[in-house]
Amino acid sequence: MYSDALIDHLRSADRVAVLTGAGISAESGIPTFRDPGGIWEKFEPQELANVEAFLENPELVQGWYRHRRQVVEDAEPNDGHRALVRLEQHVDLVTTITQNVDDLHNRAGSSEVVEFHGNITRNYCTDCEQDVDAARIDAAIEDGQPATCPECEGLVRPDVVWFGEMLPPDAMDRASEATTTCDVFLSVGTSTVVYPAARLPMLAKEAGAYVVEVNPDRTPISGNVDEYLAGPAGEVLPAILSSLDKAA
Ligand SMILES: [Zn+2]
Repeated sequence: MYSDALIDHLRSADRVAVLTGAGISAESGIPTFRDPGGIWEKFEPQELANVEAFLENPELVQGWYRHRRQVVEDAEPNDGHRALVRLEQHVDLVTTITQNVDDLHNRAGSSEVVEFHGNITRNYCTDCEQDVDAARIDAAIEDGQPATCPECEGLVRPDVVWFGEMLPPDAMDRASEATTTCDVFLSVGTSTVVYPAARLPMLAKEAGAYVVEVNPDRTPISGNVDEYLAGPAGEVLPAILSSLDKAA
């Protein structure tokens, strides 16, 4: 369980940065990589989540992302997402840096979300870069056609970072800023093995933040944080928020 020191740090904090990963989405029923049983089971994510696969077979890749988007749209934010929103009542600035593409932090109501790997609910034209509505993709797929831009006929892709692509520079800048200026840093539901996100907790610690990890299993950083809290985000974070509410 968490310490009184954590509650004191959160009570006096002006800025908190939170890094979230697949674990918090899994608690909303979003499969980490693929859901077994469906038509997509035979594909490895690495086979489809790259620009070469997209250019070779846009309908296939668009269809896979449409399926994943529907899984996300059917899911709901959980108590872990909601606890991070509640934290904003206690701390001036809470920045949530997420490796997840499922939009659940936004849907829960977090005000400051940095999407490290993009957002699967958004799509854009690969030629003119304008946003394209998901309904247009759905209609094209049902007609057996690749989805194209209404303005320029360019191919439409999801606004996510694919294997081999750079992270959005703006997201990198905002994540670095939040990490190096926060008083408390929470690493939640992430295995902390995928760089550069994996580097953020230790970057926060070097900059003087109180660093806390919340994860059911120990990770490479567990021995180096100020507190390691074993458990799911949906249980640990609401418990911390209850203590914080009582201490307020
Ligand atoms: Zn276009």
